[in-house]
Amino acid sequence: MDTRERLLKFVKVVKGLYEHLGEEEAPVKLMKRVKRRSPFHALITTMLSVRARDEVTHKVAAELLERAPTPEALCSMPLEEIERILKPLGFYRQKARNVKEAACRIVKEYGGEVPDTLEELLTFRGVGRKVANIVLYNAFGKPAVGVDTHVFRIIKERWQLLPEAKKPEDVERFLMENLPREMWGEVNRYLVGFGQAICKPVNPRCETCPLREECPYARKRLRP
Ligand code: SF4
Repeated sequence: MDTRERLLKFVKVVKGLYEHLGEEEAPVKLMKRVKRRSPFHALITTMLSVRARDEVTHKVAAELLERAPTPEALCSMPLEEIERILKPLGFYRQKARNVKEAACRIVKEYGGEVPDTLEELLTFRGVGRKVANIVLYNAFGKPAVGVDTHVFRIIKERWQLLPEAKKPEDVERFLMENLPREMWGEVNRYLVGFGQAICKPVNPRCETCPLREECPYARKRLRP
């Protein structure tokens, strides 16, 4: 079986597992509801999720966006108030500045609408490729692959499909080259949920994982 066939087979198994995971074990599922409300909700929620746990981000984003559901409302909210709401998140001061600035730019430069191209999204402070790609898919249905630490770890270290990967862009390119376009957007969610619940950063649950016979990491780890 070549690399592409193994990738497709593994992703298919993970997709099946994802469907049965609960929101508590795979909190990425909580995020879907907030992100799907509007492009603005998707952008702000994804910006807040960087280096934060999904269950915390979900609560904080829900409170912020209830108080300020539009770019206009968030732009006019005092910075101190945004900081107070974002306090449970790491880097909350920086994130508060970034989301307020993003909201004001959307109002002033884009007529209140979140822009829908990678190039434009990358000009916002606090938006890197991962955030931009997740927004492009969730808010606009554009095929784009978001690579976070779960996706990177699983592809590079656990499944060892791209052991030479140095940065998230390497894995992004690999997934785009080897997965059909219609799977680009969802692969992030499947792998993140799988990484949160089963293929965890520390102590992955290899003993009960359906991929253990074929997974190079598990074969080494479980070898008697
Ligand atoms: S067998 Fe272990 S390392 Fe491999 S995919 Fe499953 S949980 Fe991850």
